[in-house]
This record gives sequence, C-alpha cells and structure tokens, in this order.
Amino acid sequence: MVITGIQALDNLINELSKLPGIGRKTAQRLAVFILKSEDSFPLHLSEAIRRVQEETRLCQRCFNIAEDRLCRICADPRRDKHKICVVEDIVDVMAIEGSNEYNGLYHVLGGVISPLAGVAADDLRLKELVDRCNTEEIQEILLALNSSTEGEATMIYISKLLRDKNIRLTRIASGIPMGSNLEFIDTATIGRAILTRQNL
Ligand SMILES: [Zn+2]
Repeated sequence: MVITGIQALDNLINELSKLPGIGRKTAQRLAVFILKSEDSFPLHLSEAIRRVQEETRLCQRCFNIAEDRLCRICADPRRDKHKICVVEDIVDVMAIEGSNEYNGLYHVLGGVISPLAGVAADDLRLKELVDRCNTEEIQEILLALNSSTEGEATMIYISKLLRDKNIRLTRIASGIPMGSNLEFIDTATIGRAILTRQNL
C-alpha cells in the first residue's frame, strides 16, 4: 500500500503493521524512528529478528520455546517434575513465570478447541499431553487456559480425557476476568489465581 510514496519506507510501515497490536499510525511512528535512528540500531534490530527464528526451536517435551532439545524449564533440576501446567501459548508460560508462584513443568497446547476458527482437538498437542501423563510421574495437571468460551470448552475436554488417570486435576481460580488473555493480566493476579487453584 502506498503511504508516503517512498518505497523503502512504505515497505517498512506495511511490514510493521502486520505485528499484533500495531496499527497504521504506530507503524508509521516506529518506521520513522528506525529511519532516523543511529546506524547501528536498524542493523541490530534486523539481526535480532533474524536470530530469534534461527536460534530457537520448540522443546521436545513441553513445546515451550527452547535453544536445545529441552527448554530451560524442563532442563532445570529444581523444577517440580510432578506438576504440569497446561497453557495455550508460549506467551502464557512467560506470564505465569512472571508471577513466581509456579515451580512445575508446562505443556503448551498450541491453541484451544475452536470450531469457528477451524481448530479441532486433533490440532492441539493433546496426544502429547496424554503421553506425558502415561510416561512421566505426574501428580497434578493445572489447567491455565484463557477464560474464553473456547478455553472453558478445552478445559472440559481435557478433564474428560484425563479423568481415568490417577492425577489431581486443577484449574486456575477465578479472578481472571472472563474473555481475558493471561498475557495481559498482572503477575500478582496470576500468582493469586495459581495459589487458589480449584480442583476439577
Ligand atoms: Zn520444555
């Protein structure tokens, strides 16, 4: 789309507009900031963007972001290996880690069941979760999905899936407003929701 008529600048504005939460005006402001910044910044920025994909992958166990076969949480001997916190996305791991109230492992589903968005149970990493329940010494599964209709439906689906296993099933407590994403909730509220988690 032509904005300024200067191809390189328009190109940058259009690319920045694709980022979540970035509207056209913010993209223009960022593009002009990059344009006017000192020589090293655009290079460092583009290098950081390139490296984030080249030097990371998904943890083979929990599907969190990792540099090696296992993420730093799975590889950490101080973490409680008897607990798994099930989240929708990598940003939710970051949000819960920020609360400092959880010391177990994670399992990143990669979404929630959403017929409208064409996401079925088979599209999520549910089989991998069941496999982990069968092979690891799991005592508690804490469901920490966003409190949307889809998140609620997915939590019910998972609780049915794991019902016959000898594992305590919990969900983060209310206090997380309906329809809100964990990543936008302050860490103290998340911490409270984990501490006051409820049995399913
Ligand atoms: Zn991991």
